[in-house]
Amino acid sequence: MSRIHLLPEILASQVAAGEVVERPASVVKELVENSIDAGARQIEVMICRGGISLVRVIDNGCGMERDDALLSLERHATSKIRTAADLAAIATLGFRGEALPSIASVSRFRLTTREAGAAAGTEILVAGGRIETVRDVGEASGTQVEVRSLFYNLPARRKFLRSENTESRNTEHQLHLQATGHPEIAFVFVRDERVVFQLPAASNLRDRIRDLHGNELVERLLEVESPNENAKIQISGLIGQAGVSRQTRAQQLTFVNGRAIESPLLTAALREGYHTALMKGQFPVTFLFLTLDPAAVDVNVHPAKREVRFRDPVAVREMVVESIGRTLAGGRREWQQQFRAPPLPVTNPPSVSAFPDRNLPHVIAGVDDLGHSSIARPIVSRGREESHKQTNVRPADGAKANHQHFEIIGVLNKLYVLMENADGLVLVDQHAAHERILFEQLRRRMEEQGVPSQRLLLPQTFDLAPRDAEWVERNLATLQKMGIGIEAFGPNTFKIDSLPTFLSVSDPIRFMREVIDGLKSASNSSSALRLGEDMIAKTVCRHAVKANDPLRYLEIEKLIRDLLECDLPYCCPHGRPTMIQISLGELEKKFGRKV
Ligand code: ADP
Ligand code: MG
Repeated sequence: MSRIHLLPEILASQVAAGEVVERPASVVKELVENSIDAGARQIEVMICRGGISLVRVIDNGCGMERDDALLSLERHATSKIRTAADLAAIATLGFRGEALPSIASVSRFRLTTREAGAAAGTEILVAGGRIETVRDVGEASGTQVEVRSLFYNLPARRKFLRSENTESRNTEHQLHLQATGHPEIAFVFVRDERVVFQLPAASNLRDRIRDLHGNELVERLLEVESPNENAKIQISGLIGQAGVSRQTRAQQLTFVNGRAIESPLLTAALREGYHTALMKGQFPVTFLFLTLDPAAVDVNVHPAKREVRFRDPVAVREMVVESIGRTLAGGRREWQQQFRAPPLPVTNPPSVSAFPDRNLPHVIAGVDDLGHSSIARPIVSRGREESHKQTNVRPADGAKANHQHFEIIGVLNKLYVLMENADGLVLVDQHAAHERILFEQLRRRMEEQGVPSQRLLLPQTFDLAPRDAEWVERNLATLQKMGIGIEAFGPNTFKIDSLPTFLSVSDPIRFMREVIDGLKSASNSSSALRLGEDMIAKTVCRHAVKANDPLRYLEIEKLIRDLLECDLPYCCPHGRPTMIQISLGELEKKFGRKV
């Protein structure tokens, strides 16, 4: 007797379901994708008990006639592709023709559907893959799918489900993805009879994000600047400005041609784009949309269509890195606008003597740049006494009419510079600010003339594993540009005789091994430059003004002015904020002047 046989249809569907239907959230994903493909403008999702006892998706899409409805439950039945050429350029969310039969094979399933003009709709009941009833019904046009008792006939799969809460949260996240990807569609999500969210159709992404996450987040998002209008890859969306980050990846959303995908490539590109604008271990907030020729992405690489393969991954990566970098730098302009003149010039400055000296935050005595000793004076009075001396900072674009003003009030706890601007109070962490300034100076120097380096007293040699050695060989020029005097010294052996001046490294070989370890994870030469940045970021900290380092007024003023001229003034090279704005509105709220 032959040992090989064809699987019965239902069993084959259950096998397919193993990949496609992992949990209630995957049911929701497949059903909502079908609704979107059907042109729905409104989608309602309801789950009970984590979706394990019920998932129901109702849409007002195109619906199906009876024959199509029956066919849709067959394996490999789809209206979305016909030929191999179609498969090479998918424009719909679905195309595998597997979801409905798979879901129906592992649940008690009910489909009702009606085309807009049709006299009657169709209802089909399925249990464990077997069609039990087909009849006419009078439903509204569109489609409604009910999935009850998921995995009731596969107890082993059921055991893998998590708590109802966890499953609900997975579904909610899934719906966030879909709702973000399609702001033009209205969504309702009901969990155990309670409305979790109700999103009206929105005319743009920003409104949708506001409805999902609230205004506070939206105000800290920047519109992504696509590097080039005519490029093959268009990038759009909203991303968190520097300093906005999360402890998880839950708000790091990426879409490729409207499809939410998980992509290590995009994750790495985002990380690189944010680079020093992100704290270690934190994730950026992104709602990023890539649009490219469907033929340039293969979406047929993952059964749940969660991943894609790019035909030109390097180009995608570079475009993303560039547009993120550009967007963050652009966000700086907007941010600088906040430093406008205070609404009213201070005509009657409060007299200094109104503040008893011991209460003054900081008293400075020192020697100025020319060597004159300056009078010990409380800087708290400075801005007030000489309010005409408000610091004017030239905006990056040189627009004269748009001078930005701030006024230094004083220093708190020998660390935080207090400033006033049009919006209220600004607190600057002088240490973080100085780090950012030094970082950008050194980086500019590195880019323009290479990093000045200093000879080691004794050149040192060290061995590397062959793979690392090969990498170093290929990147000797980059390393030298970073101020590292390194050359080959025999097979897999290298000699190093100088290091960047600004480094204070006690063990050059250990330092080199660290640098190379970092390089190993970076994949191209632009990353090598990033590594140079990393190197600088790690070391500027040691050189920057510390908390408790008293600064003179002029120094503070210069610090602030230099900070405002930085590319990314609002965070230090480690991603920590350099300044915090407390608006007059917030103060009014705190003092109960306004509710
Ligand atoms: P796929 O989406 O990959 O084509 P499915 O099994 O998910 O496969 O669906 C099979 C077919 O059923 C779809 O191609 C579509 O024509 C039809 N269909 C499924 N859901 C809907 C819906 N909500 N509205 C209209 N047609 C639908
Ligand atoms: Mg589908």
